[in-house]
Amino acid sequence: MSEISSEYNANSVGDSAAMTVILQVAVPVPLTTLFDYLPPLDAAPVEWTPGIRLLVPFGRRQLVGMLMGVIAHSEQALARLKRVDAVLDEQPLLAAVDLTLLGWAAAYYQHPIGEAIFTALPPHLRKKSLKSPQPPFSKGEEKPVDQSPPAPLFQRGEKEKPPVDKSPQPPFPKGEEEEKPPFEKGGLGGFKAGFELNPEQITAINAIQAAFGRFQPFLLDGVTGSGKTEVYIQLIAQVIASGQQALVIVPEIGLTPQLQTRFTSRLPGVTVVLHSALKASDRARNWEQAALGTATLVLGTRSAIFVPLPRLALIVVDEEHDAALKQQDGFRYSARDVAVRRAQLVACPIILGSATPALETLHNAQRERYHWLQLPRRAGAAQPPKFSLLDIRRQPLRAGLSTVLRERMQQELSAGNQIMLFLNRRGYAPVLICHSCGWTGKCSCGDPRLTLHLTPPRLWCHHCGRAMPVPRHCPSCKSADLRMLGRGTERLEEELQPLFPEATIARIDSDSTQRRGELKRLLNAVRRGEVQIVLGTQMLAKGHDFPGITLVGILDLDRMFYANDFRAPERTAQLIVQVGGRAGRAERAGQVILQTRQPEHPLLQALLHDGYRGFAAAELRERHEAELPPFAHLALLRADATEELAALEFLREAKRLAAETVESDQIFALGPAPSPLARRVGRHHAQLLVQCGERPQLQRFLQHWRSLLEKLKRTKELHWSMDIDPQDMF
Ligand code: ADP
Ligand code: ZN
Repeated sequence: MSEISSEYNANSVGDSAAMTVILQVAVPVPLTTLFDYLPPLDAAPVEWTPGIRLLVPFGRRQLVGMLMGVIAHSEQALARLKRVDAVLDEQPLLAAVDLTLLGWAAAYYQHPIGEAIFTALPPHLRKKSLKSPQPPFSKGEEKPVDQSPPAPLFQRGEKEKPPVDKSPQPPFPKGEEEEKPPFEKGGLGGFKAGFELNPEQITAINAIQAAFGRFQPFLLDGVTGSGKTEVYIQLIAQVIASGQQALVIVPEIGLTPQLQTRFTSRLPGVTVVLHSALKASDRARNWEQAALGTATLVLGTRSAIFVPLPRLALIVVDEEHDAALKQQDGFRYSARDVAVRRAQLVACPIILGSATPALETLHNAQRERYHWLQLPRRAGAAQPPKFSLLDIRRQPLRAGLSTVLRERMQQELSAGNQIMLFLNRRGYAPVLICHSCGWTGKCSCGDPRLTLHLTPPRLWCHHCGRAMPVPRHCPSCKSADLRMLGRGTERLEEELQPLFPEATIARIDSDSTQRRGELKRLLNAVRRGEVQIVLGTQMLAKGHDFPGITLVGILDLDRMFYANDFRAPERTAQLIVQVGGRAGRAERAGQVILQTRQPEHPLLQALLHDGYRGFAAAELRERHEAELPPFAHLALLRADATEELAALEFLREAKRLAAETVESDQIFALGPAPSPLARRVGRHHAQLLVQCGERPQLQRFLQHWRSLLEKLKRTKELHWSMDIDPQDMF
C-alpha cells in the first residue's frame, strides 16, 4: 500500500510504462506497510539494491527511508506517486538476509516495519547524513565478503533470500542430524586453554562443530562454572580460524567486565562490543567493523542481534533465560528468539547457554527441537554448592538474619572465608509509615511503593524515578512518629556492621555502583579478598566469579516467590541457582542457605531435592495445567489514555473485533483490565491478554486483528501497542 497524496503532481508521472521502476520503501512511521516511490528525476544510474537509504517526502516532512524492493507495478496510480528526493548510500547498509530478518521480526512482533528497521540501525545512520563522514561501506571498496577470505572450514548453506517475508513463520523449526568428524584437540587455530577439556565439553564441541554450515539450535545446559564459556571460546576460535564471524549476545555487558576480557585475551582477530552505553562514535565504528567483516567476534547486548555480519557462522546467546534479552518498550522483540530465526536464515548453528534455561527453551529441548547438550559438573576441582532451607518461622531475627545464619557466617569469617548476602530490594526501607495515623507515602505517578533512601535522604519511586524529600512530620496528621518498615540493602549494610564489627562489608546494587568504574572496583575488591561480606541485589547473580565465597544467604525468598506474575517462581528459582552458583567456584565447596517461612512449598522442595531440573519439571506441569507458556502462547494488547475509561473502551471494542474473526474459537481474550500499575505519569493504562494454543494461528489472528485495530476510530491521544510473548504482565 502506498501513501495517498492529495495533490496531483504532474512531474511525478513516469515516462513510459516499460521503464517504470517503483521503489518500495520502509519509512519510520507507525504503519505496517511499505510505501511506493518513483526514482528521483536526476538520478545518476543507480543500482536499486535493497538496503540503501533514501530521502523521501512523507506528508509535509522529509524522512530517511530504507529501500526494501523494486517492483514494476504499483497498486497506486503512477500519477499519485512521489519521487525520492535523494539517494543516501551507494552500497547497501543491510544485506538481503538482514532485511529478511527484520521483516520477519517486524511481522512476528507486530511492529511497524520502518520503525523496526530504524531502531535496528545505530543512531548515526537513522538520521539524514547525506555526506556521512564514514560511509559504512566506503566508496570503491568492496565488502570483504567478496574479497576471497581464507578457505572456509565448512560450506555455507544457500543464504540469499528475498527481502521481506510477509508471512511470519514460527521461529523454531527443527534442524536435521548429520555426522561430522569428531573434534580434535589442537584444532583450534593454535589457541589453547591451560587445561584439558572434560568429556562433556568435548561432546558438546563435537556436536556443535558438526553443525557448522547449517542451521541447528543447541541448548547448552550447564551448571554455573561447568565450562560453557570455554565451549564458546573454543568454537569461536574455529570460526575465526576459518575466516568467518561469530556473534555472542549477552543480557548485560557492563555488569560482567571479566567476560569481555576473557574473550579478547583468548581469541585472535578483532573483537568488538556493541551496547547502548557506548559512546556514539565507538558504537558507529564497531558497527561498521562488524558490517564490513573486519570484526571477527561481535559481543553485544540485545540490539546487536540485528547488526549485519556478512560472514556469520555461529551465534551464541549466553544466559538465554535472562529477561533483559526481551526489549520492554517500542519494538518488543526477544533477542533470543530473533537469534534462532537469524541462525536459520543464515544457516548456522546457534547455542543457547544457561545454567537455568527458560522453561520455553527446556520445553523445546525436551521436544527435540533443540539439541540438548548438558554439562552437569563443574569444571576443574570446584564442587557444586549445597542448598538448604532455613525455616525462620517464630525465629528471632537481627538485621533480618536468623541466629543459625549468623552463626554460620561467624564460622566462615573465622575460617577466613567470604560471604554473600542476597536481598533483592534496593534502598533503606520499602515503606515509611506514620505510627499515629497510618499515612504512607505514595508517588504522584500512582505507584504506592515509595522507597526510603538515606544516602542521600529521599523518598524514591523505583517505578518512575521521581525523588521527593523525606518528610520530618506526617503530611497528614503532623505527628513526628514516622517509622521505617522493612529492609533494603542500604539498611542491611548499616545493621550488619555492628553484628560483624571486624568484617569489611561491600554493597553491590544499582545505587552503590552509580559512579563509573565503581562496580569494577567493588568486584575486584571482592575477588582479591579485601571484602569479607558482600551484599546486594540481583546484580550479584550476573555471572561473576568469586572464588573465595563459601556461604550465600538468600534473605527475601518468600516475597520474590509469591510475586503476582506467573513467571515469579521461575525467575526466583533462576535467581537462587544463579546466586548460589557464585559460591565455592574454587576448591572450597559453597553452601547456600535460603531463609523462608514456607519451607514445605512443593516448588521449593523440588528445587532443593532435584535441583533446577526438578523444579522446572514441576513448574512445567503447573504451566501445562494452567495453559500457560510454553503450552500456550500469549500476546498483550496495551492501551493508555488520559481519560480513565478511554483505554478500557478501546480494548473492549478490540475484544469485540477479535470475537468476530474467523479463528475466534481458538483465541481467548481475557480482560480488559486496568494494568497492575494502572495510572502512570498522568495516563491510564489497561491491557487485554490474548491466549492461543498454536503459535501460527495466533500469528495469523494478530495480523488480521491488527489491521482491524488500525482502522478503529479513536482519539489521537489514545496509544496502543502489542507485546508478543510478553515477559512482564504489567
Ligand atoms: P561457565 O561459563 O559454565 O560458568 P566457565 O567456562 O566460566 O563456566 O568455566 C568455569 C571455570 O572453570 C573457569 O575459570 C574456566 O577457566 C575453568 N574451566 C573450564 N573448563 C575447564 C576444564 N576442562 N578444566 C579445568 N578448568 C576449566
Ligand atoms: Zn512515581
